[in-house]
Amino acid sequence: MTPFDFLSPQTLAEACHALAAAGRRPIAGGTDVIPQWRAGRFQAETLVDLSRVPGLSDVTLRDGEIAIGALSTYTELHASPVLRAHAPLLAEVSAMIGGAQTQNRGTIGGNIANASPAGDTLPPLLVLDAQVDLISAAGERSLALSAFLRGPGQTASEAHEIIRRVRFAPLPRGARSLFLRLGNRQGMVISVVSAAFVLQLDDHGRVEEARVALGAVAPTAIRCAEAEALLRGRPLDDDLIARAADAAVAAARPIDDVRASAAYRRHGVRVLVRRGLTQLSAPGGGEQ
Ligand SMILES: Cc1cc2nc3c(=O)[nH]c(=O)nc-3n(C[C@H](O)[C@H](O)[C@H](O)COP(=O)(O)OP(=O)(O)OC[C@H]3O[C@@H](n4cnc5c(N)ncnc54)[C@H](O)[C@@H]3O)c2cc1C
Repeated sequence: MTPFDFLSPQTLAEACHALAAAGRRPIAGGTDVIPQWRAGRFQAETLVDLSRVPGLSDVTLRDGEIAIGALSTYTELHASPVLRAHAPLLAEVSAMIGGAQTQNRGTIGGNIANASPAGDTLPPLLVLDAQVDLISAAGERSLALSAFLRGPGQTASEAHEIIRRVRFAPLPRGARSLFLRLGNRQGMVISVVSAAFVLQLDDHGRVEEARVALGAVAPTAIRCAEAEALLRGRPLDDDLIARAADAAVAAARPIDDVRASAAYRRHGVRVLVRRGLTQLSAPGGGEQ
């Protein structure tokens, strides 16, 4: 590892000031930074540690909006009563990421900033229509997560900006939601395909609202607009589920890599979307 300087600001203003200079990058839990640094894939002259900055790890429900501080760990997200009641798929995914050590250190802000196509919080946050709040010495701004993610490891944020929080509306009462992932084995692996769903059904099983997102099958996590449009307004039966799975496969742009071939990933999309929608179509399936 090449040597680096380390700054440990004690306030958000200090952190913003520290990041204003060139060659500096934030570190939160370090679960992506340290392996990337060891592999020679993370460049910075100075790391700015965000972990001592207060006020960045609350999960709140205020004025009809959930706000998750960027430094919230997976352990905290899994235990959050707000998420369990109003966005259960995000609490569920937090218990699937890595093992206990990674869940205790890894943060949601780090997962978003790292912008891996396989980042597991990203499909759930996309179906929650999340907004990302950024702060820097120059001011604050917000953008939709879908606009924030630009490509593998690429985002719309500038080097001096800190992800402060991520925000979204609570799921309405009766909404059904689910996160599924496929890996090469059960634990401690990066997803080969992942899928997140939010559905609202009326009393006759007709789809009122549908949101479907995929991970690890395109340069970024993606929403499947055509599958969603197909689902809305129709009864959620086997035929519709099969057609929605076809539409999701068509939206995927997977690559061959060390974990899986593109063909396997396409097959995985079909399997996960069929499985997810079938589970959600069952009486009470995924219901809050
Ligand atoms: C053993 C192991 C298993 C893993 N399993 C999974 C898994 O199953 N699913 C999964 O999705 N990921 C997994 N990961 C990856 C990693 O744990 C997550 O991406 C985690 O959320 C990263 O958070 P962090 O706080 O550790 O980020 P860090 O490593 O500290 O930072 C990651 C990147 O984000 C930037 N950054 C961090 N915080 C901020 C902020 N607030 N504002 C702006 N930039 C910021 C850093 O500069 C860096 O570029 C695993 C990692 C390990 C080591």
